[in-house]
Amino acid sequence: MSFEISAFILSLLCLVYSLSAKRRQYHLPKGLKNMLLSQHVMFLALLICNILSAASSVGGVYLQAIASREVVFWQYLLHACYFFFHTTLSISFALYIMNVNGASMGRSPRFYFYFALPYLCSELLVLTNSFTGAAFYMDARFLYHRGPLMPLLYANGAVYLVLGVLFFFRYKQAVSRADSLAIAVVIALTSLGVTIQGLYPNLQVELFSESLNFLALMILLEERGGHMDPATGALNRLAFADANRRLMETGQTYQIVLVKLTDIALFSKLFSGREMDALVMRVSGWLTSISSEQDLFSLRDGEFALLCSEAEGRDAAATATAVLERFGQDWKTGSLTLRLETMVSVVRVPEDVASLTDLEELLSSGFRKAGPGSRLVPFAELSAHRRNRRIEQALRGAVNDRRLHVWYQPIWSVQKRRTVAAEALLRVDSEELRTLSPEEYIPLAEQCGLIREIGLFVFEDVCRFLRDRQAEAAGLSYIELNLSVHQFLYDDLVERFEEIRARYGVPREKLNLEITESASTDKAPAVREAMETMRSMGYTFSLDDFGTGYSNLVQLIRGNYKNVKMDKSLLWDAEGSAAASRLLDSLIHVIRSLGCNVVQEGVETPAQLERTETSGGNLIQGYYFSRPLPEDRFLTYLGREASGGRR
Ligand code: C2E
Ligand code: MG
Ligand code: MG
Repeated sequence: MSFEISAFILSLLCLVYSLSAKRRQYHLPKGLKNMLLSQHVMFLALLICNILSAASSVGGVYLQAIASREVVFWQYLLHACYFFFHTTLSISFALYIMNVNGASMGRSPRFYFYFALPYLCSELLVLTNSFTGAAFYMDARFLYHRGPLMPLLYANGAVYLVLGVLFFFRYKQAVSRADSLAIAVVIALTSLGVTIQGLYPNLQVELFSESLNFLALMILLEERGGHMDPATGALNRLAFADANRRLMETGQTYQIVLVKLTDIALFSKLFSGREMDALVMRVSGWLTSISSEQDLFSLRDGEFALLCSEAEGRDAAATATAVLERFGQDWKTGSLTLRLETMVSVVRVPEDVASLTDLEELLSSGFRKAGPGSRLVPFAELSAHRRNRRIEQALRGAVNDRRLHVWYQPIWSVQKRRTVAAEALLRVDSEELRTLSPEEYIPLAEQCGLIREIGLFVFEDVCRFLRDRQAEAAGLSYIELNLSVHQFLYDDLVERFEEIRARYGVPREKLNLEITESASTDKAPAVREAMETMRSMGYTFSLDDFGTGYSNLVQLIRGNYKNVKMDKSLLWDAEGSAAASRLLDSLIHVIRSLGCNVVQEGVETPAQLERTETSGGNLIQGYYFSRPLPEDRFLTYLGREASGGRR
């Protein structure tokens, strides 16, 4: 008896705590189906059933002591209530386990019908017992007795316990190891309680052992303090991993809407921490209102994820649109009224991402901001890092195995009517990079530091080529090499170049270094200083891709370049537009008047050649003469040109 009273008190305390300590924003899911599929609601159901069973049991036993005609009705009613709630307790327990590991998701109504059948039959037995006395009955002296079908009620409990165990093992992978251990212990203890109660019916320990188990569940699985992000009130990244593991391992099809507030870091610098905290809370509260508390996760500063499962009928595309619409309007908190920018992307599971590792990788690379304004980021863009990583690996492999080559593209002099120089261009012998241009993988090599080794390789290979003097014999004055500004960030650049050059005995004037203008050329003192040092030693420079991106006229004057290479796009645009044509002519004129050579890139047709000659460009590089060629074919090309062959 004291066990039952303790069970009642313990479960009641758990219930009060669960309801009061739950998050402030907690709302019950709408609709019976969603309630049954909610882990937390089923936990509350377990507690309520336990409390009511214990209360009925205690009341029943109390009335038994004063058994009389007056109280027999209440006596009967309390016994019936005990069985009714105890039977509900068993099915709730199985359903709870299935909600924890996701086994309950996406099942058909037919499944649930068969699943609930033992429960429905048992409750029918309890509800019709007053007519049949099959489960229990009261004798003439108002004493309680078990009926012939009572074992069926125990069998019902056993069925759901077994089902719980089966589903637990079937979807063990869907819960984290710690949670799995907690459930295993709870199932074991529940079985023990039921067994002891079965063997010693007078020892009413079952409900008490269950109360203890619920207390354990509450601490281990329900009270997710460690799963909360205090700054937003949303679930955190750990909870996100748990939720996705559960959905993926049970084979669900669902979508994740990722929301990133792109300018939150900037606003954090401008406004006080308190105001920003309130703003982030506002946003998180709004996101909860369009999803649900269980489906909103805060991944890191200003980055949220919303889970949209088909089962819940939430459409990811509509959610993404709603987010973008909302972010088109102002956010108000305290004294602040701000328009926040956001990037939204939809990830489909399993089509886009099929494992937790893939998802983690995707999230860790994050969104890259590309231009102002809120926008929907296509998944292909979001996952560009994957492709980049493959490219990077292929490149690393090629660098390690020395599968690098230098090809040469002729630079033709208008005045001398022959090839006078060449540009050295990197080629990588790799199946993965076969279809890619260096324009795509050089920036990656810069990002991952491989550019240093690549740059030194190209420099050395060009020096080796020049040492043999075949190029010189064929009338080549110098070779242009592309130099990434990233290479200047390594202190020993000049030292290494000098060491290599000296080793091959190549004079500095045989080399001309091409630099592409960028913000870093202008701003980083390291770049300017290294260029100055090299210039004072006798190296010369070309300004590459002039007319694109960060074209700085001041740099043109200060830079003291030997050649300025006009980007191909300038030439190609000039063919279709009179304004672009005039601009190109004027630029060529200005650059020539500064004493620099103009190398026109991208000359492919006789018309383009003629146009460049007329406007004063004095060096030409382009497919019209030749594409970049491997060393031997380049020498053959030079030989043919010298003997009056082609052009
Ligand atoms: P870039 O320095 O502007 O090199 C010229 C690019 O234009 C070469 O592309 C060349 O093949 C291409 N090209 C030349 N004439 C024509 C033409 O008439 N029509 C067309 N459509 N294209 C033409 P490539 O070899 O793919 O190289 C692309 C870029 O990769 C280079 O642009 C350069 O920025 C970079 N790069 C190549 N090799 C190296 C290297 O060894 N080191 C560094 N840092 N960058 C390199
Ligand atoms: Mg170049
Ligand atoms: Mg160029």
